[in-house]
Amino acid sequence: MRSVDVLIIGQGLAGSFLSFWLIRRGVDVLVVDFPQILPASATGTGTFNPIAGYRFTPFWNFPDCRDALIEAVTEIERFFNTQFLFPLPIARFFKDEEQKKRWERRNLETVLAEFIDRFLSPEEVAQWVSAPLGGFLTRQSFLLQTEKFLHSWRQFLLHHDALIESHYTDAQLELDHRSVRWNRQVRARFAVFCSGDSILRSHIWNSLLPFQFAKGESLTFAAELLPENLIFNRGVHWAPLGNHTFRFGATYQWDDATALPTAEGYRQLRSALQNFATVPVTILAHHSGVRITFPDHLPALGPHPQYSQLWLFTGLGTKGVGYAPFLASVLAEALSGKDSIPSEVHLNRFG
Ligand SMILES: Cc1cc2nc3c(=O)[nH]c(=O)nc-3n(C[C@H](O)[C@H](O)[C@H](O)COP(=O)(O)OP(=O)(O)OC[C@H]3O[C@@H](n4cnc5c(N)ncnc54)[C@H](O)[C@@H]3O)c2cc1C
Repeated sequence: MRSVDVLIIGQGLAGSFLSFWLIRRGVDVLVVDFPQILPASATGTGTFNPIAGYRFTPFWNFPDCRDALIEAVTEIERFFNTQFLFPLPIARFFKDEEQKKRWERRNLETVLAEFIDRFLSPEEVAQWVSAPLGGFLTRQSFLLQTEKFLHSWRQFLLHHDALIESHYTDAQLELDHRSVRWNRQVRARFAVFCSGDSILRSHIWNSLLPFQFAKGESLTFAAELLPENLIFNRGVHWAPLGNHTFRFGATYQWDDATALPTAEGYRQLRSALQNFATVPVTILAHHSGVRITFPDHLPALGPHPQYSQLWLFTGLGTKGVGYAPFLASVLAEALSGKDSIPSEVHLNRFG
């Protein structure tokens, strides 16, 4: 039987960044992830927006989240001699008058100042998008090419014999007082669940925390006439993927936890894209994934209250690119017993 320090279930953004920080600390890691075409983490645009949402709420712990993302991805980029992370301004447009007023009030308070470059008039963007109320250009926003990043990191793990392509089930897990065994193949000191929406079906976790979910759908489209050095956002947004292709999303569905794309999701997205873009576009693909969230919109990580060998890292919601790298580094420290998890994101905050 193979022995490792940490078994990680899932190689989305959570499992990828956690395995990165642990390997960097010299911890022996094995990731279990089933083979798939596009994990939930890769269906999004990969945007890290420091003032996301209708209310322009500043990102939780922004400096730490930004610095961890840059540090981790820069190191992985050096290894692969390629770029996955791009500092990219967001051309952010107001959805309605109410949102514009809200922005003007918040802007006066200067809390947003460090994230705003300048105002954008409807005229200067009319060649690309319809944005009658104008908007602004952000600073300190990023684009992570998630599909390419996750694929490359998977190759790294496979090459280092640190990933098994297999389908984990709770029935394969056996616990003793100091360790955990998976599938009679692997013994680990800890198992960390980074399995995205599968957590909803895990009897080990599903009754312990107030899990919520929001299914999201997205499109890939081609457009020759759009710039590739900007993210465009008017409630929905698109980001460049390269070669004049773009990822556009997303929808929110709270009553369907299956990861299958729907005809209604496609219709909504196509109509939103037609309303926003003023250039010809060709839709190439349709994707969907399920986001896990909690009532306070923050992730949850930490050990199981009864089984100290089992840990959880989930609830990245709509902000996986921003949250995953920093919180994975916190979790890597916590697994070595060296640091504590901030109370706002500790899973024990739900009692
Ligand atoms: C349409 C859409 C658009 C989005 N856009 C953005 C965006 O622009 N910016 C942003 O920051 N976030 C965005 N998000 C959110 C982001 O994708 C999530 O926060 C992120 O995917 C969560 O990562 P995760 O690692 O927790 O889960 P996941 O990405 O779901 O990864 C879980 C992994 O576990 C594996 N797994 C699950 N069950 C098993 C099992 N039983 N056995 C083996 N392996 C298993 C899966 O294969 C997968 O690889 C978007 C989400 C969606 C759906």
